Amino acid sequence: MRRAGRVVHSVLQRCREICQPGVTTKEIDEEAQRIIDDAGARGLFKNYPTYKPGEGFPGTLCISVNEVVVHGIASDRVIEDGDIVGIDCGVQLDGWCGDSATTIMVGNVTPEVRKLCETTQHVLQIAIENIKPGRRWSQVARLMQQYAENLGYGVVQDFVGHGIGQKMHEDPKVPNFVNRELLRNDILLQEGVVLAIEPMCNMGTKAVKTLADQWTVVTLDGKPAAHYEHTVAVVPGGAEVLTDGN
Ligand code: MG
Ligand code: MG
Repeated sequence: MRRAGRVVHSVLQRCREICQPGVTTKEIDEEAQRIIDDAGARGLFKNYPTYKPGEGFPGTLCISVNEVVVHGIASDRVIEDGDIVGIDCGVQLDGWCGDSATTIMVGNVTPEVRKLCETTQHVLQIAIENIKPGRRWSQVARLMQQYAENLGYGVVQDFVGHGIGQKMHEDPKVPNFVNRELLRNDILLQEGVVLAIEPMCNMGTKAVKTLADQWTVVTLDGKPAAHYEHTVAVVPGGAEVLTDGN
């Protein structure tokens, strides 16, 4: 899984380099496909099935600009100074998966939007630092939720992280918040468990909606959203990030 994670990391690194004003999201998507092909890996998002047969996800990456929370589709949209660009990448290599996302701040991002991104990234870091074998996920999720909500952000509840292994989306569901469902069915963080942890924070309301393309998820109030994700293994003493390029 670390080898798959390295491919994902190299894709996100390259995206950080080329995600500049004037570039289209389609160009970023094509560059990602080249890197995945060169690594002998398989992108996990392209043709990801929807409820309509034959109409899978069209892109290699999910590229989610500004008010798009997740699952944005690459297009002729031109990146502008001040945009925040969420890039999510999942690949399979030799049968094992890696999944990671980052939000790239392009040029002169307003201080408010920068703080949203930095906070969401910190929420992911809180999770990584607080994973310990024997703990329950709800203990970690509560810390994540409280940190973001105390700063006034909306913690998205319609989408969650997930187990990951030979498939990208495995059990259990890994929410970035605590609800009754999680408390009833809490996740024991045992050594060897691998989770894709992916907090999504909104500048305003936590409410989101899906656009008519059936994929693109936007904030209900049109305010910006940030999304960060790592594939994380529970190991003796704590957590090991598999998508950090090491
Ligand atoms: Mg992902
Ligand atoms: Mg994921």
